[in-house]
This record gives sequence, structure tokens and C-alpha cells, in this order.
Amino acid sequence: MRAIQVSRHGGPEVLEIVELPDPTIGPDQVRVAVDAIGVNFIDTYFRSGAYPRELPFIPGSEGTGLVDEIGSNITGISVGDRVAWANAEGSYATKVAVDADKIVPVPEGVEVPVAASALLQGMTAHYLLNSVYRPQQGESILVHAGAGGVGLILTQIAVAHGIRVITTVSTDEKEALSRAAGAAEVLRYGDDLAEQVRALTDGEGVSAVYDGVGAATFEASLASLRIRGTLALFGASSGKVPPFDPQRLNQAGSLFLTRPTLVHYTRDRSELLWRAGEVFAAIVDGSLRIRVGAQYALTEATRAHTDLEARATSGSIVLRP
Ligand code: NDP
Repeated sequence: MRAIQVSRHGGPEVLEIVELPDPTIGPDQVRVAVDAIGVNFIDTYFRSGAYPRELPFIPGSEGTGLVDEIGSNITGISVGDRVAWANAEGSYATKVAVDADKIVPVPEGVEVPVAASALLQGMTAHYLLNSVYRPQQGESILVHAGAGGVGLILTQIAVAHGIRVITTVSTDEKEALSRAAGAAEVLRYGDDLAEQVRALTDGEGVSAVYDGVGAATFEASLASLRIRGTLALFGASSGKVPPFDPQRLNQAGSLFLTRPTLVHYTRDRSELLWRAGEVFAAIVDGSLRIRVGAQYALTEATRAHTDLEARATSGSIVLRP
């Protein structure tokens, strides 16, 4: 098979194209011939070494394709089934071994690039809004990186539930995308961000902030919350938040701070199928639109990471083998 390999941590240039033997599968796994791969910001943390992983490794955790071999313990999945996954190591490859309990069937009507890149970001938006803090109709929330992969999905789901969404973006083009997803107010990052959010909420602040940007936005996120508001810090695209004194949550209004991650919100098969099923159902019925902002050949993985880290992308990103 052809794959992207990381043999040393570093910038996007350490993503090397290699030929390797096809992966062998265990009794509880399936092997998939990959049609498309979802690129996620977390892939850059493993590549750079910000998150630990033993070298060498094949990056990527998400994709879609056709099952081409099934393990001896597997029932309910057949060779030729069209499947997707959001949690399998080694997804930047033409063949991937996936644990069968991580496999999700892809319904009719979901295009390949969408199937490859909707699950990880879609289930993240789903758990943030349903299980971390569930805003009520009419509440205002703040979503950073509103034109990003998670941001566009989170905005659409929230707006469909009658929630007023305020977003941040870096450019006019991204502002237009965020507004098209339903954002009521679109702001730029900056020193007076929290003041602008308060001005838009009668001085109260928002009930929740969904912050995947991290270091650059954390202080403004805290300062934008109403009393007893929730800060869901779910990522660090601008860098890690420095150590933090919990006493500040008291002074700022008995705030809640959580640092959640998708694996803990897809703990068993029924939770995974619930979240994935709702994401795919919304795509099929047209209520959720996945913007595939860019597609690259697998051999162009370096370019994909460069663009993602340079904030040059919007929506999801896909690699095609
Ligand atoms: P995005 O498509 O949102 O890309 C990142 C965006 O962050 C950029 O487009 C940019 O938007 C914004 N950004 C702000 N500052 C920076 C910076 N200094 N460098 C780079 N980007 C910056 O990525 P994803 O949708 O894949 O992921 C969003 C975040 O959510 C990531 O931090 C990711 O790790 C996290 N995540 C966490 C999960 C979890 O379960 N905890 C699961 C999935 C994702 P703009 O130009 O508008 O500022």
C-alpha cells in the first residue's frame, strides 16, 4: 500500500510518502480499501510531537472506503460494505486496519469526500452541544473559528435548535461562510472581543463558549461568559493554554471549565452509533451541509497540513489516495 509516514517530529515537511506492506488484521478488525481520508487539526499535533506517539507512524484517524477483508470474529459487516471511521490510527494510507467496533456504515446519498470528513468534526459538534453544555432555545453562545471544520457544523446544529450563535473568524471570506451557516453575529479576534460579546448580549455574556482555538482566545472566552456559564475548551489550534488557577472561575462568576475529547464521548458502540447516526441523518435530510473546503492527493499531505496550520482552509479537508 501507499501511505504517509512520520519518522521524526517536525513541520509539514516530515510527512513522507512511502510504500509499505498492506496492514494485517486481527480477529476483531476489518481492512478497508480507502477512498478518501479526513484531515483534522489533531493530526498536526501528533506530527509536530505536541501529542506523544511512538515513531515511525502513519498519521490520520478518519476516512471512508470499502471493506476488503474481515476478521474471523466479525459478524454484521461484509466485504464490499461502504464504511467510515473517526478513530483508527494510520488512516493516511490506501489500506487501513480498523477495529470493527469503530466502524460506521455510510448511508446512501452521502458523497465520498463528505463521508471521509463528516464524522470526527460532526460528532465533536454533536457531543459539545448535546452532552457538554446543551444551550436552550434563545440562548446565545460563542463559537471560535466559526468557518473551520467543527465551527461550521456546530453553528448549523445550534441554529437549527433556535440558539443564537456568535462566531469569530479571521477574514471576510470566512465571515461570509460563517454567516451562511447561520451565525447571527461574526466577530474578529482582538483585544475587545469580550466587550463586543457583552455588548451583543445586553451586558450579560453568553451561556457557553466553544473554544477550539486555545491560547489566543482563552482569556476572551472566560471574559465573554455570563454568570455560571460554561467554557468548553476543546482544542488548541493557536497553542496550548498556560496553567490556570481554578480560583479565577469563582471570581469570574462561578464558571464551569471543561477540556473534553471525542473518545470520552464515544465510549461504547451505542454512543458512537447514536452520534454518527444523527450526523449522517442530518446530512442525508439536507439539514446539515458539510463544506469540504479542499481536497488534495494523498501525496500532497504536506500541503494540506501547511494550509491548515496557516489558517488558509475552511470547512473540512480531504486527502484522496
Ligand atoms: P479548523 O478547520 O477549525 O482549523 C483551525 C482554525 O482555527 C483555523 O482555520 C483558524 O480559523 C483558527 N485559528 C485561530 N488561530 C489559529 C492559529 N494560530 N493557527 C491555526 N489556526 C488558528 O480545524 P478543526 O475543525 O479540525 O478543529 C478545530 C479545533 O478543534 C482544533 O483545535 C482541534 O484540535 C479541535 N478538535 C477537538 C476535538 C475534541 O474532541 N477535543 C475533536 C475535533 C477537533 P480562523 O482563520 O478563522 O481563525
